[in-house]
Amino acid sequence: MEKYYITTPIYYINDKPHIGHAYTTIVADALARYNRQKGRDVLFLTGTDENSQKNISAAEKHYGKENLSKEDVQKYLNDMAGVWRETWKKLNLTNDDFIRTTEERHVKAVKKFLKLVWDKDDIYKGSYEGYYCEACEAFIKESDLEDGKCPDHKQEPKKIKEENYFFRLSKYREKLLDYIEKNPDFIMPKSRKNEVVSYIKDFMEDVSITREGLKWGITVPEIPGQALYVWFDALINYLSAIGFVDNEKKFAKYWPVDLHLVGKDIIKFHCALWPAMLLSAELPLPRQVFAHGFFTIDGAKMSKTLGNVVNPVEVAKKYGNDTLRYYLLREIPFGEDGDFSIARLEERYNSDLANGLGNLVSRTFALAEKHFDTLPELQEVDLSGFWKKYEESIGELKLHNALALVWEEISKCDIIIDKEKPWELAKTDKDKLEKILGDLLFRIKEITRALEAFLPETSEKILGLYEGKGSIKENPLFPRLDK
Ligand SMILES: [Zn+2]
Repeated sequence: MEKYYITTPIYYINDKPHIGHAYTTIVADALARYNRQKGRDVLFLTGTDENSQKNISAAEKHYGKENLSKEDVQKYLNDMAGVWRETWKKLNLTNDDFIRTTEERHVKAVKKFLKLVWDKDDIYKGSYEGYYCEACEAFIKESDLEDGKCPDHKQEPKKIKEENYFFRLSKYREKLLDYIEKNPDFIMPKSRKNEVVSYIKDFMEDVSITREGLKWGITVPEIPGQALYVWFDALINYLSAIGFVDNEKKFAKYWPVDLHLVGKDIIKFHCALWPAMLLSAELPLPRQVFAHGFFTIDGAKMSKTLGNVVNPVEVAKKYGNDTLRYYLLREIPFGEDGDFSIARLEERYNSDLANGLGNLVSRTFALAEKHFDTLPELQEVDLSGFWKKYEESIGELKLHNALALVWEEISKCDIIIDKEKPWELAKTDKDKLEKILGDLLFRIKEITRALEAFLPETSEKILGLYEGKGSIKENPLFPRLDK
C-alpha cells in the first residue's frame, strides 16, 4: 500500500493554540483524510516543541516564580501538552500521533542523530558573539535588525558571547542547491523558492547548535556541559515519531516524509538547516515543504496586546467544526496571507453552507421523502471532468480551488431544480420527477464524496440520509444563524 506521511510544525506550548495553529493543523487533517480516502496508508503527525526557553519563561510566569524545579516545569509542560492534544480532538482532527520533544523516544532519537553528525566530523567548537531573539529562538544578524529590534517580534534581541558547538551547515551549500534544482516541487509555493535559494547562496553560515548554561534542553555525551539548540533538537521530531531509534521497519516505510507543512517564518529551517542535517546523517531528504502565509484578524495583526487572539475552539463551538474548516480552507488561498473575520465567516456560512449546500440537500431529500416511499434510484451522470480538475487542485495543494469546484457542482444542481421545477412535476409527471431526483441524488452523493476530507461531519450526515438515517427536516445541516 502506498504511504503518505504528513507533518505540521511542532508548536511551542507557552500558550494555548490560536487560530493560526489550528489553520495549519486543519490543512494537514484535510490532506490526511483525502489521502486515506484514496486508500493510502497515512501517518499524520503533530506535536509540541517543549525544550524551548520560551516554555520555561511561560512556566515561571504561570507559577509566579523563577528557578523552577524540574518537576514544576514538567508539570507545566504536561498540562499544556494536554491542552494542545485536547484542542485537536475537539476540532475533530485525526492526527495519528502526537509527539512531545520531552518524550524518551525523541530524546533517544536526538542522541542517535547527533552521533551520526558528530562521527561525520560536522560539529566543531567555536565561539559566537551576536544577537539572539528569544521569541524566534534564533540568532539574528545585526543587519536584519530594525531599529535594533527583531523585525518579526519587535523586541530587542539579547547580545550573546559564548563558546558553542557549530554545525558545518555551509559545507552542504552546493548539495542543497543541487537538490532544490533537481526537485522543483521541494519548496512550495514556488514563490518561496527564490528566497530560500538566495539565503543558501549568499547568507547561510555554520550555525551554533548548543547553548551554554541552558537549564532545560537535551544533552548529549559528545558535548558535555551544554544543551542542544532547540531547533536542532526539534526538527528531529519528524524522525523520532516514526521509529528512528526502535522501529526500523516503520522508519523505512514512512521516511522520507511526503509533506512538511510550515509557516513562512520557519521555511529556512526546513529547507536549509533540516535537509543539511539529513545530508550529514546520510538520510533521504523530504519530498516537499509547503509554507503557508500569516493571518490578520479583521485586518489587524493578531496580538495579545491588541486582545484580538482568536481561540479556534470557541469559534468551532459556536459555528461548528465544519464551518471553521470550510471558512479557513475556502477563504484563504493556501500559501498566501489571509484575513480572519467572523463577519466573513458568517457570510460564507449563510451563502455557501446554509443557502448553498444545506439548502440543496434539504430540498432534494424533502421532495424525495414526500413523494416516494423509498429513495429514487440514483441516475448516473458523467462527472469525470469535475473529478479531474478536483484531483489536480488538491495535488497542487490549491484546496480553495478544489472547494470552489465543488460549489460549481452545487450551483449546477440548483440550476437543474430551477429549470425542472420538481414540485410541479410532482403533480404532472411523477416518472420524470423520479428521474430528476435520481439525477440530483447522484450528484449530491458525488459532491459529498468530494467534501469528505473538508467537511467530515457534514459528509457523514449526508451519507447517512442515503441509508435512511435521520431526517433532514428535523436535523438541518446548517441551521440559520440567530442574529
Ligand atoms: Zn524574533
